[in-house]
Amino acid sequence: MLTSTQPEWLTEPADLNALPPRLWPASAERAADGVLTVGGLRADDLAAEFGTPVYVFDEADFRARCAEFRTVFDDFDVYYAGKAFLCRPVARICAELGLHLDVCSLGELLIAVSAGFPAERIVMHGNNKSAAELATGLRHGVGRIVVDSFDELGLLRELAAEAGVRPQVLIRVNVGVHADTHANIATAHDDQKFGFSLRTGDASTAVATAHKADELELVGLHMHLGSQIFGLDSFEVGVRRVMEIRARFLREHGVSLPEVSLGGGFAIAYLDHHRPSTPAEIAAGLREFTRRSCAELGLEPPRLAIEPGRVLVGRSGITVYRVGTVKDVAGLRTFVSVDGGMSDNIRPALYDGLYTGVLASRRSTAGPMLSRVVGLHCDAGDVVVRDDHLPADTRVGDLLAVPSTGAYCRSLANNFNQTPRPPVVAVRDGQARVWLRRETYDDLLALEVE
Ligand SMILES: *Cc1c(COP(=O)(O)O)cnc(C)c1O
Repeated sequence: MLTSTQPEWLTEPADLNALPPRLWPASAERAADGVLTVGGLRADDLAAEFGTPVYVFDEADFRARCAEFRTVFDDFDVYYAGKAFLCRPVARICAELGLHLDVCSLGELLIAVSAGFPAERIVMHGNNKSAAELATGLRHGVGRIVVDSFDELGLLRELAAEAGVRPQVLIRVNVGVHADTHANIATAHDDQKFGFSLRTGDASTAVATAHKADELELVGLHMHLGSQIFGLDSFEVGVRRVMEIRARFLREHGVSLPEVSLGGGFAIAYLDHHRPSTPAEIAAGLREFTRRSCAELGLEPPRLAIEPGRVLVGRSGITVYRVGTVKDVAGLRTFVSVDGGMSDNIRPALYDGLYTGVLASRRSTAGPMLSRVVGLHCDAGDVVVRDDHLPADTRVGDLLAVPSTGAYCRSLANNFNQTPRPPVVAVRDGQARVWLRRETYDDLLALEVE
């Protein structure tokens, strides 16, 4: 007899209809008849109007979190990391609420600029920025460029000279800290592609080279440890190491670098028992690590920046799917298939991302059923919710909603199995607005040229 292996954290929930506030956007609740509502709009109405799957984005929730970060980190520059989820309305909200913006591709830069985002508040990232990308950034007058390699340093000097501008740059330092997160999103141990290695001395060489380059204005250092990091221990180590480079630079060149960006990576809860650090804890920690290192090393404290992505946008978005098949495999679990999957949320396949799901089209009084929510793709890794309990009466035609899909879902969406990408519908005060329309089969066919 087969028995299913369940993760130890998976306990039977007291209420299968609950919407834990830690996971759901602020406006999520159930209407009197049990239907999930977000932003004052019913999931069944949204599904009828916009189809499924659909990303539903609580605009007020996102605004509130941006405003919270702006307040809690009032002595920092707060760059929203656009790779978590970027479209023009998101860029405009960030601009309006006083945030800066981190872009890491020409596409992200073009979206930001086309939204009217102030270029001087944009920072450009990337380990392989093209000449076209850098030249476009220079032409628009982006505020900062974070240099990632010696090749880029040379290219940027040439392009700046050609353009007759003197960009402000930071040097990305690989501080050699292995943050406790999934391997694909740990970005500051020695053996990965980002930044100049502190261990080999490349970081100090790069800082000195940028300082001597007349074409560039070196303003500081940058580190980014990775993503979905729960605690602050790795930040403490990283801050210390970055400040040591600043101290060495001060000794050798007599110049105190005025800026340090500590990157992003702050975790959110995907499951109800997750306990990420709060914004206030993060701010207090980063301030204290910086104050202490600078005091010990005899440095002026720098202007600090952070680059939060997931933590600003993750909880604002949910995905609503329709159940297409329910397959009970006796003794194991029930596979509930929805009409999306790894094309709209690749995080379970890519990073072992964990999610929960609830019935959205009704409240159920049935008992718990050990379930795995899977997609429609021809790949056994096509999982949306790996382990959860759904009501035992979950059936074909039900709507199922997955919370905490605001970050790294639409931005990583793909066309696997020639699947059109779902729309993003923003909801607020009973109004729905399409921020990104659904891709169509005509869009896909339009790529075919032969
Ligand atoms: C991805 C990334 C971020 C944002 O990471 P989150 O985990 O979404 O906060 C910030 N800075 C850089 C350089 C990044 O690559």
